[in-house]
Amino acid sequence: MALHWKILIGMILGILAGLLFSQLGAKEFVAGWIKPFGTIFIKLLKLIAIPLIIVSLIKGISDLKDISKFSTIGFRTIIIYICTTLVAITIGLSLVNLIQPGDSMTEATVAELSQAYNTDANSRIESAEAQKSKGPLQFLVDMVPDNIFAAASANQNMLQVIFFTILFGISLLLIKEEQSRGVKDFFDSFNEVIMKMIDLIMLTAPYAVFALLAALIAETSNPDIFTALAQYALTVVLGLAIMISFYVTLIYFFTGKKPNYFLKGISPAQLLAFSTSSSAATLPVTMERVQEHLGVDDDVASFVCPVGATINMDGTSLYQAVAAVFICQALDFDLSFTDQLTIVVTALLASIGSAAVPGAGMVMLVIVLDSLGVPRDILMVGLALIFAVDRPLDMLRTTVNVTGDAAVAMLVGKSVGKLGEPQVKNWDDHYKED
Ligand code: ASP
Repeated sequence: MALHWKILIGMILGILAGLLFSQLGAKEFVAGWIKPFGTIFIKLLKLIAIPLIIVSLIKGISDLKDISKFSTIGFRTIIIYICTTLVAITIGLSLVNLIQPGDSMTEATVAELSQAYNTDANSRIESAEAQKSKGPLQFLVDMVPDNIFAAASANQNMLQVIFFTILFGISLLLIKEEQSRGVKDFFDSFNEVIMKMIDLIMLTAPYAVFALLAALIAETSNPDIFTALAQYALTVVLGLAIMISFYVTLIYFFTGKKPNYFLKGISPAQLLAFSTSSSAATLPVTMERVQEHLGVDDDVASFVCPVGATINMDGTSLYQAVAAVFICQALDFDLSFTDQLTIVVTALLASIGSAAVPGAGMVMLVIVLDSLGVPRDILMVGLALIFAVDRPLDMLRTTVNVTGDAAVAMLVGKSVGKLGEPQVKNWDDHYKED
């Protein structure tokens, strides 16, 4: 059976088991005996993320053979990432203005929700505060590490590691062939080993996904609240679905590859993004799928995917646009046209700045709302309002984030003549062989 089916079955069984255990009141059993397997899996994926970024970026850049090719790919990647994010924000803003989900919220619901989630909202605001107090160019300063070992020892420093590695890769391109050969050969083999490690970890994915979802469902407290926020959640979901259709159309138009080809190739990464809510944890699988199943050359994929996982978050930016306007609608805070434009700019920057971990998009949402001049007390109530449905929406927006990275990898690959046939032709056999 193909891997994506196995993961899907794991997900469905996980949800059913979660429902069953919460009915039986066995939350502690799930937390003690099932959840750890999911946690171990996420740890394994994160474990591989930093070595993967280092080896694949170095291999990718050095395979390009000359520096002008690197700048072409780099420039195109960043431009396409920004364009797709702007499309996502525009879709989000259009939908939320059209559907106006905030207007249907009754005052009683607003009061109830804001009471229930006040403390959770508070902690998000504090994290955003810490982020904001740093000054406008701080993100550039933060991008440059002063010690590569320190940077590589924390998964949050992905951008610092990417910075060092790109500098290393460029320098490798600039020295003579006979001087660079040893390092290149080393990283080529290292890359193969890491890819094999990912294959091995992925063998456990269906079981891990079962554990993750069973634990998530068993821990969910109050399902009634979902109905109150249904219109808002559906607006986000609709936007995310449009975004996926946008990617498949773009790919069909520019590369001639059918939607089925793309979706089938990337689906294990999507399912994993959904189960883990983290683009960073999903990165190893995204890269493997893009290279081996979507036919993007290693040197393009190994640059586009890690950079995308850290800065390209179309799902997050769409969600931030919808959530910001929804909160203002529900709490009667009027937004002018200029305010909506402010949302476009801040949601773009906020999504670039969001870490690729669960819940990060909501922290950065505070910054979007702040830039609109939303007063502190409304901000608190607003965040408390959307908190209840944030996790399921996080799962979905992360899926779109990952799909966007893969789509852009194909587009960049095509534009530089580095999109071919998949290296693993028979998908179903791939993991079986392993
Ligand atoms: N969880 C998302 C991701 O990792 C970020 C977010 O919270 O929107 O891509």
